[in-house]
Amino acid sequence: METRQRLPRMTDIVDKSTRSRMMSGIKSKDTQPEMRVRRFLHAKGFRYRLHVRELHGTPDICLPKYQTVIFVQGCFWHRHKGCRLSYTPASNVKMWQAKFKQNIQRDRTNTRALIKEGWRVIVLWECGLRKSGESQLAWLPSEIQYGNSKLVEWPCETQEK
Ligand SMILES: [Zn+2]
Repeated sequence: METRQRLPRMTDIVDKSTRSRMMSGIKSKDTQPEMRVRRFLHAKGFRYRLHVRELHGTPDICLPKYQTVIFVQGCFWHRHKGCRLSYTPASNVKMWQAKFKQNIQRDRTNTRALIKEGWRVIVLWECGLRKSGESQLAWLPSEIQYGNSKLVEWPCETQEK
């Protein structure tokens, strides 16, 4: 009998189109959390480019004037540290861990390369962007304009969610 590796059951986690995008390695674009950030920045007068393929990791939002890029990351796929959305499914544990490891490494490589090229990188995790209303992003404009950290992650595991 032919032995086949069982495919992970992702149906309960993501919808079909998201699933096929993920498995083919294509990043999801224009997600609701991402749209929330875009609308917020636009309303604040920021001008940006979207999904810039010439940059490492195709950042979701690029603000050339501030040499800053923003990634809006899904907590599950990109492994938000300490986040409850960043769980590991009970079946096919090894396969998931390998996949997650790959994602983490790819993100790290991209971040390093961007910083090396002079970009500041802001990572916004989806769990912070679930609520409607934009008050949770009130810190962002001044971070873009005046911040000097090369890498900012929000929310980070030490913050309350
Ligand atoms: Zn999270």
